[in-house]
Amino acid sequence: MIFKFEILYIYFIRLKMPYKDPEKRKQYQKQYQKKNKDKLIQYRQSFVFIKSKRISDWKSRGVVCDDFDALYDHYTKTAYCDFCRCELSIHKERSANTKCLDHDHTITDRPNFRNILCHRCNVLRK
Ligand SMILES: [Zn+2]
Repeated sequence: MIFKFEILYIYFIRLKMPYKDPEKRKQYQKQYQKKNKDKLIQYRQSFVFIKSKRISDWKSRGVVCDDFDALYDHYTKTAYCDFCRCELSIHKERSANTKCLDHDHTITDRPNFRNILCHRCNVLRK
């Protein structure tokens, strides 16, 4: 998770980076981070960032979908596990009730989303 976050963060920096020379780039990055510390913190806490981080995480796990916006909307609005109906947790630390996006791992060329499940049901299904 931290690793992926770093990639997004570097990508965000690169969008604003004019240097090709690695040393100059490093310097520029450092200065940029210092100068825009508050802005970067704000960005990382923003809805746009949290949503894009979540969706890129799904994509990297093999979730295929025609409309990730709609899927994200459904995901955020779902409060109970589709199978056991337990209340889902969205805390960072994983528990049996952690909300999971269940998809069919055998399908890679078409939409493969199945359910929103708790971690316990998601593990049992695989
Ligand atoms: Zn469940």
